[in-house]
Amino acid sequence: MEVISRFAPSPTGLLHIGGVRTALFAWLYAKSRGGKCFLRFEDTDIKRSEQKYIDSILQDFDWLNINFDGKPFYQSQNRSNHLNAIKQLLEDGKAYYCNCSSERLEELRNKQIKEGLKPKYDNKCRSLDLEDSPDSAIRFKNPESNSIQFNDLIRGSIEISNEELDDLILLRNDGSPTYNLSVVVDDIEMSITHIIRGDDHISNTPRQINIFKALGKQVPEYGHVPMILDESGKRLSKREGALGTEVYKEMGMLPEALLNYLARLGWSLGDEEFFTIEDLVKVFKEGRLNNSASSFSIDKLKWYNKEYLSRMSEQEILEKLSKLSKNFSKKDESSVKALRLIKDRCSTLNEYIDNSDYLFGDLQSYDLEESRNVFTVESIEVLKILTSKLKDLNYWSEDQILKVIEQVKSEKQIGMKEIGQPFRLAITGRLNAPSLDKISIVLGRERVIGRIDKVIQEFS
Ligand code: GLU
Repeated sequence: MEVISRFAPSPTGLLHIGGVRTALFAWLYAKSRGGKCFLRFEDTDIKRSEQKYIDSILQDFDWLNINFDGKPFYQSQNRSNHLNAIKQLLEDGKAYYCNCSSERLEELRNKQIKEGLKPKYDNKCRSLDLEDSPDSAIRFKNPESNSIQFNDLIRGSIEISNEELDDLILLRNDGSPTYNLSVVVDDIEMSITHIIRGDDHISNTPRQINIFKALGKQVPEYGHVPMILDESGKRLSKREGALGTEVYKEMGMLPEALLNYLARLGWSLGDEEFFTIEDLVKVFKEGRLNNSASSFSIDKLKWYNKEYLSRMSEQEILEKLSKLSKNFSKKDESSVKALRLIKDRCSTLNEYIDNSDYLFGDLQSYDLEESRNVFTVESIEVLKILTSKLKDLNYWSEDQILKVIEQVKSEKQIGMKEIGQPFRLAITGRLNAPSLDKISIVLGRERVIGRIDKVIQEFS
């Protein structure tokens, strides 16, 4: 049997990192078994669904290079099938009209809560055999006895008694089908065999299984992916816009590193950490899906990203950087030099850009606070000696520059910090940068001396 899975986001917000991981697992589950995975937009909540979210979700998957099979499916376009399924359930005596007012339901709910009971519809209309009327809703006749048992692909065997479930509404009195009904009808329509989704849906699963059965359809397999927590142990939520996938793109993460990290966050195969997407397609089915929550660490993601960057050729990195900053160009020697200089300290593409601006063109500014602290009367004196010695150098080489630094240190009887800080700040505009001899080589004599002289002039 061909495995057919799906990822079914509601386009009511950005695609967050938890959603990407669920999608990845649903996709890999099918792909590693030679199957298909579809994308379905659950866009029936007209008030909250927006085209801009559909567009951004599509863009995110495009960036991640996760290709779903066929065209995206839109839940709103399957409305006639939702209505037909409800009609069939009515005809088969598996659904009924309910004319309970919202006031009555509210009262019932409050009373149950007061009595310490779980709020549940009391089945008042179940046996009344009501006719359709303008205000009536349609409810599902949930089985009253027995239990629903299913073997969750991630959590193992789960059993829920039907007594815990109530007769859920299938069609609201405004004529709109409800979520649980629509999902089941869509899954049938799309011939879904495996539903891999977030575990926030686990309480819906027994209800949906009952609807599948009532419609006489094969119940799919389910796998509920545990949630991702943030570093403080709280749930990563969709509402935290900062966690939209775009943010990681904007931070300069590589999609392959993000996917690798997310795959490992909740799935493992021995102790191996690195899996390209091609590897994952091959071995995903041999690994183990974790049944407990995992926590997301930006540092770990950066670690993966750095590792992926280090596996790329200089030309590949430059190609990416040239799309993000005009400082970098694939064919330019100074780009290559800059790249080599800062490679070890960069975990993201953006860090390459941020850590290299002083290597291109003029130095625009110094951190004012730092300048005041660093460019003192004493340090300006140090810079004066330094620049005169640098001007006298016959060769502009790392060795020679290091030698000059040593000479200034011993002449002025100062430590490395007393020369290193003003020197570094003068030529880079920052205190955190690679070693001075290396920077000086990349910048070249003229720019190094020019920048030191400018500081001497400005701060004397
Ligand atoms: N639309 C639901 C969501 O975004 C997913 C429903 C499902 O996968 O069955 O959470």
